[in-house]
Amino acid sequence: MQCLGCKKETDRKSGIEFGNDLLCVDCFTKRAQEAASSRPSGAKLKALRKAVKEELAGLLPEDALKQLIEDGYRRILIHREDFDVVSGSMKNQIQVMAGMAVCRRVLEFMRGMSSAIVQGLESEEQEIRDQLKRLSDLDKQ
Ligand SMILES: [Zn+2]
Repeated sequence: MQCLGCKKETDRKSGIEFGNDLLCVDCFTKRAQEAASSRPSGAKLKALRKAVKEELAGLLPEDALKQLIEDGYRRILIHREDFDVVSGSMKNQIQVMAGMAVCRRVLEFMRGMSSAIVQGLESEEQEIRDQLKRLSDLDKQ
């Protein structure tokens, strides 16, 4: 068999097989190194991990919640504001955030549903057209 990369004659024992394709050890190593070096690293990897973590965290964005709590602590402990006033305004802000997050999820869901409905209607319409065509073909026989 030929190596997919360098076209050198390679047998199954000295190459690495992928389905019907074969790579010699040199080409496999080179491609593996290329793939490894194209992986995100440093700041990009950190940002990706953060995005995934946020997505898995739940309904509310973690950073915004943390900021809200920190602001609340600051207002109560440093600026000596009234606990009930601060906790009341935090409660309101959390409710606003939760409301917005739920709205966003509902909108995303509806967007998905509407495209599914349009697809369903289009296929229904096509089926009706096919049936009408078959009926008119029957007429001609
Ligand atoms: Zn090769």
